[in-house]
Amino acid sequence: MTCPQCHEHVPAGALFTSTGLSQIVCEKCATHLKPKPLSAILVFVLSFGLAELAMLGLKKFGAAYWLTFVGFFVVFAAVFIVGAPALLRLQPKERKANPVATG
Ligand SMILES: [Zn+2]
Repeated sequence: MTCPQCHEHVPAGALFTSTGLSQIVCEKCATHLKPKPLSAILVFVLSFGLAELAMLGLKKFGAAYWLTFVGFFVVFAAVFIVGAPALLRLQPKERKANPVATG
C-alpha cells in the first residue's frame, strides 16, 4: 500500500490497530486514510471465499464440526492479514463538507 498523499509506503501495521480500518494514518505525512470501498470488498470476498473452501475441505476429510469452524476463522484471518496490505488501495479521508463557501 502506498499513501496517495506523499506516495510513501504505508506499513501493514497501520491497518491492524484497535480502531480498525476506519483510522488509518500515514506515518510520514499524517494524512488520514481509508481503504477504497471496492478494494476492501475484494479483500473481504477473497478471505470469505477461501475460508469457505477450507471449511468445506475439512468437512470432506471428516473433521469435527468445531474444527471446521476453527479452520474457517483461521483461514479468514490469515487471508485477511496477508491480503489486506497487498490488495487494499488507500484514499485520503474526505473532510466534512464545509458549509461556509470559500473564495
Ligand atoms: Zn503520506
